[in-house]
Amino acid sequence: MLAEDEVYMRLALDLAAQAAAEGEVPVGALVVRDGQILGQGWNRPISTCDATAHAEIVALRDASRVCGNYRLPGATLYVTIEPCTMCVGAMIHARIERIVFGAPEPKAGALVSRLNLAAADHWNHRVQTTGGVCMEEAAEVMQRFFQLRREQARAERSDRERSDPESRNSDKAGPDK
Ligand SMILES: [Zn+2]
Repeated sequence: MLAEDEVYMRLALDLAAQAAAEGEVPVGALVVRDGQILGQGWNRPISTCDATAHAEIVALRDASRVCGNYRLPGATLYVTIEPCTMCVGAMIHARIERIVFGAPEPKAGALVSRLNLAAADHWNHRVQTTGGVCMEEAAEVMQRFFQLRREQARAERSDRERSDPESRNSDKAGPDK
């Protein structure tokens, strides 16, 4: 871990908060090279109707536009949560030099949790990875978001049941198939 990693990860956490404010799963990312922020992004597949609009992809597109080049050699991508297969693939295509992530993603993380995609031998580019930067804060942002969402779902359910007591059993008593 480098001294500046925490500084940039905190900025990525601010971007994650932006995603949460828009009702998107809170992940933030930024691309940095030579102390300069080239691109930034937050997760926004819902608002853009785009399955590829993960924070990392949005940040890569932003940086590539700024640089006028889809390749970003020497750049570091900071992301609050361990990236998925699509995003690791995109970062390798973009020739990102280093990926720094916050908390691991046990369900779909493609660097340490489910796969070690960066170590696959079919790539013609090697990317360095560093995990666990601001790990607790990064994990907490996700936990808080999903906890809030569960509470909202519960509140909506009990509202529905209050206004229509019959609906209480409707989930279980579906039509016979
Ligand atoms: Zn992704």
